[in-house]
Amino acid sequence: MRLTLLPQTLRGLITASFIVVVLLLSVPTTVYVTQQHANQLIKDRGAHLHTLAQATAVALAANLGERLREVQLLAQTPTYTHGPLDSPELDASLKRVSQSYPHYSWISLVALDGTVLHATDGMLVGESVAERPWFKAAAQGAYVGDLHEAVLLGKLLRAKLHDWPIRFLDFAAPVFDAQGQLRAVLGTHVHWRWVKELVETLKPLGADRDGIEVFIINQANMVIYPDQAALGAGLPTVPRVATDQPYGFADWDEQVSYLTAAASVAETPGGKGAGLGWKVVVRQPRTQVLSEVMALQTVVVAMMLGSTLVFGVVAWRLGKYFSHPIAQLAQKARQIAQGEEDISFNPATRSIELRVLSDSMVSMAATLLERKHALESINRHLETMVADRTAALEAANRELASLARKDALTGLPNRLAANERLQLEFLQMKRSRQPYALLMMDIDFFKKINDTHGHAAGDEVLRHVAHLLITGLRESDFVGRVGGEEFLVLLPRTELAAAVAVAEKLRALVGGHPIEPAGRVTISVGIVVASPEHTNEDIAVRLADDLLYQAKEGGRNRAVSAFSTSPPPSEGSMVS
Ligand code: GH3
Ligand code: MG
Ligand code: MG
Repeated sequence: MRLTLLPQTLRGLITASFIVVVLLLSVPTTVYVTQQHANQLIKDRGAHLHTLAQATAVALAANLGERLREVQLLAQTPTYTHGPLDSPELDASLKRVSQSYPHYSWISLVALDGTVLHATDGMLVGESVAERPWFKAAAQGAYVGDLHEAVLLGKLLRAKLHDWPIRFLDFAAPVFDAQGQLRAVLGTHVHWRWVKELVETLKPLGADRDGIEVFIINQANMVIYPDQAALGAGLPTVPRVATDQPYGFADWDEQVSYLTAAASVAETPGGKGAGLGWKVVVRQPRTQVLSEVMALQTVVVAMMLGSTLVFGVVAWRLGKYFSHPIAQLAQKARQIAQGEEDISFNPATRSIELRVLSDSMVSMAATLLERKHALESINRHLETMVADRTAALEAANRELASLARKDALTGLPNRLAANERLQLEFLQMKRSRQPYALLMMDIDFFKKINDTHGHAAGDEVLRHVAHLLITGLRESDFVGRVGGEEFLVLLPRTELAAAVAVAEKLRALVGGHPIEPAGRVTISVGIVVASPEHTNEDIAVRLADDLLYQAKEGGRNRAVSAFSTSPPPSEGSMVS
């Protein structure tokens, strides 16, 4: 049998076809719908991330500008422009400013030679900041310095702020006198934690749950927010994000793909220097972006499988509607093939084709049945004929067999029949040990009768003698014509004396019944009793022949007997 994946039944084929069609229709639809959904989702998410990046960048720029303006405004107040630089009022002013904005870690007024004149909490007063970039730059104009670790202040603030490293942004502005001459520099350090507060404020609800992260990177593409401690692991390497697109997928650390959006932080207006060149980069893991697609895909695939199952069940039921009448038809055909003669069949179907098929099958079965009956009738007739012919043949055979064993002239058993009877008697004697007697007879001077009265008269004499012999013998005895005018008589279970008596009786019978025109006819007889010691049945025959010869020699019309116990000297047949 060939192995195949295709169903073997019509019903199975219909069901499989339905399922294949449903899958062919639904799979491309499912793929298309989920693909479209994924694209739309990426678009929405990307726009969302870009908006967040932009909002953060704008807020950062605004905040930086605000700080710078605050320092500039302070530098233009009369206390700074006109008052004595050693006035205690300046300490009080610095303290007020520092209290107005909690992220100011240090505000100072520095003399033109770099010596700190006043500072919040008196930190670094009297020390020189002449080599600090912000001091040098502020002599030229308002300055915003890039993020840096605390150098001089670090040691002083460490105990106070409980974190390390401490990073600051520097804002500085020159202080001019009434004539416009530079008289001092106002410098502030803003603690970097303000950026955390700002970013956290702008982050949308559920951003952490959705894996949305906000990074600030500097001109050298280094992450400056969040700091390493907050990230736990090492700072990620920020991939170059194409600026002509608001968002896109990018591999971070060359491993994980993130949907990434970036926005540049605008330069602070009025600030001097090379500019910060910061960017806000927002990312969300690709897997998280697409998790909704996965959820949708699961639902759609489940629906698809569900509908396929429903269609499969419908097809299975429909398949029964189609296949049932065919199965019935097949069943009926099988029954007819097995010999059922009831050919009426009415399949439960409305299909014209099936009805035509079933009608054709019924009429075909009717024709076949008719032929079968005709054939059976011919068969019966033939069988009777054969039986009749066989019986006739057997009768003919029997007749033939009987003819083959019958002498046509006298009606007596012939030589063949005599031989068979002789063998039978010999075998019975061997078994029962009871001897039989054998008489060999010959008509005397028969040639002379023929010669004198003609052949027909001779024949008549033969029939006459045969009849006399039958008359003189018992039913159980046997007499046959074994030669021209020779007869063999077998007397079962007969001793010599009885045999002699029978021979004499027969001789007297023949001699006592003359027949015209031949007249009186005589016979000579050789009498032998067969012995169980004889090795074959021919021994007794030959002995009888010898005794018959002696009877002829002795003058004819006589019976000669002997009790022979020994086989004759020479072998030969009964007929001599
Ligand atoms: P014997 O006394 O010695 O027996 O002399 P016989 O003449 O009887 O014996 P032989 O053998 O000389 O002759 C037998 C004859 O019987 C010869 C033959 O033509 C004749 N014969 C044999 N069969 C038939 C037959 O069927 N019909 C007739 N009519 N004659 C037959
Ligand atoms: Mg003879
Ligand atoms: Mg004779």
